[in-house]
Amino acid sequence: MVRARLATSRGFFMIQGKPKHYCGIFGVFGVENPARVIYNGLFALQHRGQEGAGIAVSDGTKVRSVKGMGLVNDLTSRKEFPTLSGHLGIGHVRYSTTGLSRPQNVQPLVVECIDGIWAIAHNGNLTNARSLRRSYQEAGAIFQTSTDSEILVHLIADPMYRSRPRRVERALSELQGAFSYLLMTKDSVMAARDPYGFRPLSIGKVGNGYAFSSETCALEQIGAEYIRDVLPGELVVVDDKGIRSSTFCEPISGSLGQCIFEHVYFARPDSMVFGQSVHDARIRLGRNLARQHPADAELVIPVPDSGNEAALGFSKESGIPLEYGFIRNHYIGRTFIMPTVADRATSVDMKLAVVPGVVRGKKIVVVDDSLIRGTTSRRRIRTLREAGAKEIHLRISCPPTRYPCYFGIDFPSRDELIAADHPVDDICSFIGADSLAYLDMDGLKSSVDHPNDFCTGCFSGTYPYDVTEQHSKEALEMPAEQTV
Ligand code: SF4
Repeated sequence: MVRARLATSRGFFMIQGKPKHYCGIFGVFGVENPARVIYNGLFALQHRGQEGAGIAVSDGTKVRSVKGMGLVNDLTSRKEFPTLSGHLGIGHVRYSTTGLSRPQNVQPLVVECIDGIWAIAHNGNLTNARSLRRSYQEAGAIFQTSTDSEILVHLIADPMYRSRPRRVERALSELQGAFSYLLMTKDSVMAARDPYGFRPLSIGKVGNGYAFSSETCALEQIGAEYIRDVLPGELVVVDDKGIRSSTFCEPISGSLGQCIFEHVYFARPDSMVFGQSVHDARIRLGRNLARQHPADAELVIPVPDSGNEAALGFSKESGIPLEYGFIRNHYIGRTFIMPTVADRATSVDMKLAVVPGVVRGKKIVVVDDSLIRGTTSRRRIRTLREAGAKEIHLRISCPPTRYPCYFGIDFPSRDELIAADHPVDDICSFIGADSLAYLDMDGLKSSVDHPNDFCTGCFSGTYPYDVTEQHSKEALEMPAEQTV
């Protein structure tokens, strides 16, 4: 009964089983060949977005850019790429969280204001974008994109801010929601983070210059040394005069809102995020999971790649040996652009293959980092059974995801979350496992340092602040009949 209800209401073949990534940003100042350096940095951030990529650089007088739909390595084949000379620049990889996936929305956005060219790259989601945009449109402003990111350009260009000191700080202080921004003028790079610190942004030193990155793995990639994070509410500016910092919004009183899902799933394990090792946090998640929900099993099997460290932690804590029962095919394209439901389902199966010799006849505990809709887990468990696994116990290294995220993660609707209105037993029955258990909130929080500085809203329904303006990914799109 439960299976039938779930199957018909959610569809067996919705295959976007994970929350989606949501952009990565990277910038440099004072380096040779910035386009190549940014390219290398973005390459390390590709896991944060695969819909589009772009780079804007400057030689101190002229700004040049290249961008397009697709992956970072698609940029090098564009004719503009060899022309990108200079010593500063910013780049972006995109997964759309506001604004559809189309070329106009790829960043960095490059615009001409009365005082010169500005380029911006944004990671996050602005919760007051719709009302700000509407007020500018009523005053006659024209928007080039349907992203929330563009609103910052209008604030910076607004004469009310342009003519006053601390113009960028004033513009940033108007924004609500999650944002890590990189901005570039012809002769400076700026980095800013919202007062709650939802999204990560780190600073590195490279030679005599500086680098900024969503994750430190990209700093490593270019040989930069991690210095520190951009602080919540801080604007860092680097230009020929050096590097300096200011506060555009006093740190909020009380807890921050750093996204705990970065540690659970999004970030690369070789990154430091919010000043903490992602690898270490995930090992602790796995250890806590094993303590809370032991399983009578012979093998621990990770769901690669993001479940690897939690499975290792589970194995260390439980003493059950870890084996690789799934093999990920890294050459499969993005499943969401496959043309038919059947193609997409096949693609999911091709992406993760079972090693039959590992699981056949065995009692296994499978460790995954999250369970969003349940449909992908269901397929995986069926495949494990077909390969001969005797018992399958699924363990999830975070609590049930029951609530939407308003801060830049693409699971906006409760209808899409299987745990929103189904108890664990029903979910277990739907996915076909012998047992299912989630890490609880205490286990999650004790896996990170300073747990009160993290947002856990998608698990608890309690967010760092009340979001009054909620909108969908398409909220800033023109109605179809008005689209030009
Ligand atoms: S609601 Fe969840 S995904 Fe969104 S910022 Fe908070 S912890 Fe991260």
